[in-house]
Amino acid sequence: MRKLRLLLVNPNIVMKKEHVHMGIAMVGSWVRHHSDHEVKILDFMATPTRGWKRKLKKTLQEYKPDLVAMYLSTPYFPAAKDVAVEIKRHVQVPLVGGGHHATLATEDVLGCPAFDWALEGDGEIPMLALLNALAAGESVDSVPGLWRRDGDKIVQPTPKAKLLPPCEMVAVDWSVFDRDILEANFYIWGILPVTASRGCPAKCSFCSMTEIQKRYPGERYLRYRDPIKVVEEIQADYDRYKSMGLRTIQFTDLNFLINRKWVEKFAAEYIRVGLHKKLPYSAFTRPDHVTAENLALLRESGCVNLRVGIEAANDWQRNKIYNKGISQERLEEGLRLMKESGISITGYFMAGGPGERPEWLVQSLELAHDFSVDFPVFFLYKPLADSEVLDKAAELGSSIRPEALEEASDLLHGISMEHEHLKPWQVKAFVLMTHIAFGTQFVWWQIQRERLSWFTDFATFVLRTAKMGFTPYGSFTYFVFYAGDHLVEPYLAKASDKPSIGWKALRALAKAVLPHSGIEDPT
Ligand code: SF4
Repeated sequence: MRKLRLLLVNPNIVMKKEHVHMGIAMVGSWVRHHSDHEVKILDFMATPTRGWKRKLKKTLQEYKPDLVAMYLSTPYFPAAKDVAVEIKRHVQVPLVGGGHHATLATEDVLGCPAFDWALEGDGEIPMLALLNALAAGESVDSVPGLWRRDGDKIVQPTPKAKLLPPCEMVAVDWSVFDRDILEANFYIWGILPVTASRGCPAKCSFCSMTEIQKRYPGERYLRYRDPIKVVEEIQADYDRYKSMGLRTIQFTDLNFLINRKWVEKFAAEYIRVGLHKKLPYSAFTRPDHVTAENLALLRESGCVNLRVGIEAANDWQRNKIYNKGISQERLEEGLRLMKESGISITGYFMAGGPGERPEWLVQSLELAHDFSVDFPVFFLYKPLADSEVLDKAAELGSSIRPEALEEASDLLHGISMEHEHLKPWQVKAFVLMTHIAFGTQFVWWQIQRERLSWFTDFATFVLRTAKMGFTPYGSFTYFVFYAGDHLVEPYLAKASDKPSIGWKALRALAKAVLPHSGIEDPT
């Protein structure tokens, strides 16, 4: 069979830069593992915003791909369309989109003429089938999960794509990325993403996972890899990338603690091989999955940070609008247990989602403060393709702003919705206040700990990342969260019995900017 060249593109040409992407790394690794086709990943993480077209053209000219595939998510889709159009200006090879947006908004993807096909679901098996069909000069009609056009019509795939069984998932071969991207990744973030499981059984109304889950009735959506193999691969990657600056593992599993037996096996193996002393890790969890026992195990095995989806402090908003399914008592108990465990908490909140109210934002601010969440991150709500919560938006008094999609990749500034009880400037002011309230605390803590070297390291970091197109704000954010040992030995906010004067002033300001809507919470 003819050997083809596959170019996988992460269209991260926007100001908001992200670390190496797990999804395309897994697809690229699978193709390499199971075939002789060549694979290369084009990532714009270290490319100045104005230089992405030059880099794209050079890559296309030098690599001469036979097939280009692009990862698509809803927030980055406008950027992806720009990249797709530019690709077609230079090469006339097929372009296929995959990822969440291609799965949930296939017609949106194929509405952009630059995309020839859209791949739904797990990309590994279909991508290889597509390459093999092209290499053999056969029709692509039987490639599972491949949506295509027939004239003006969009043709659904037969067969449908199936979920990839966990036993078939292969280790990520990070050399599918160029060395300069890996170096930038380890310098800036110091992290290696690891995916030990796929899927999530929860049904949060704002999340694309809920919709993707519905596409696979009767299949096992939550799937786990063998924990022993996972640790073996982490050990190998640690040996390979330690000298480049690998400092922490970041599990991308959506709910790391959902399977007690799996966590126990993983932790025991991580400790047995000694990684718990060398390579700390961070993981996502829901607050209702933590217990004193599993937190002790995590702590012992080197977990230094838990990334927790809180979304909203208000019980009704969290459970009735966002369908999070976490009672107030369990949320607060989970936060208290995490605090007691000595593992730092990154708490994710959403601001400005459907039905948002000023008093609910103030409640989230208070919860983050009262439970001493170490890194409270208030993201601006972004509408994700096909998510259930959008069906309720009008009845909740909210609507999507026309410019929302264009600003969607900006999680800290782009406002997506208009609300009956809240103005866009109030949401922006709120997010700014949260940065001032919480950011200054841990920056001050870092400065006291590192003294002069904090400033010299910061200056070096800003200069180096500026050459890669990072904004000063982006550089600052990544520096305080990830640079040096900032995640390895993270800040732990201290609970104080007495509210400080600064906090009292901030809360008063928040209440002035976000006065109560005057509406009772529904019961
Ligand atoms: S928000 Fe988290 S818990 Fe909820 S469905 Fe998505 S991945 Fe699952």
